[in-house]
Amino acid sequence: MAKRIGLYPGTFDPITLGHVDIIERAVKMVDELVIGVAINRDKGPLFSLEERVAMTKAEMAIISKKSGVPIMVTPFETLLMKFAEQVNANFIIRGLRAVSDFEYEFQMVGMNQKLNDDIETVFLMADVRYQFIASRLVKEIARLGGDINAFVPPAVATALRAKFAKS
Ligand code: ADP
Repeated sequence: MAKRIGLYPGTFDPITLGHVDIIERAVKMVDELVIGVAINRDKGPLFSLEERVAMTKAEMAIISKKSGVPIMVTPFETLLMKFAEQVNANFIIRGLRAVSDFEYEFQMVGMNQKLNDDIETVFLMADVRYQFIASRLVKEIARLGGDINAFVPPAVATALRAKFAKS
């Protein structure tokens, strides 16, 4: 049987425990997982692309070892569907939080189906403990000196504190 390759795209600015939870669920469904880190200049990321890729890679090493599923972390700037084709993904994985994510994801799936109807989008939900976590809010809390340890892996918490200590 052909390999099942999943692509989990996002900005990962930075990777949170919500993302990690989704990835831990995704590896149960695939033979190989590609994490696509979007350049996303429009979002004005706090961490550079290199920093986001490095932080994500470090966390993936742990999950890959535990699950035995190879995980590749790759930056991308092209159209998502083009990137999915390039990495031979059979499906795209997205996390779904409360209703707020639905409208946007609903539109994206509709558009992406028009671009390539062979690549399915699969939605996963994180454990209730992590569903409310958003990178945007984590950055805001860190910027204001709040405790972020419950939201991100320890290495990411350290990187966030370092980022805001400098500014
Ligand atoms: P994007 O810019 O594509 O929204 P993000 O890095 O913010 O990138 O998120 C990537 C994916 O992970 C999206 O599908 C998003 O809905 C999902 N996600 C982010 N945080 C959570 C969470 N706490 N629980 C479940 N899914 C999440």
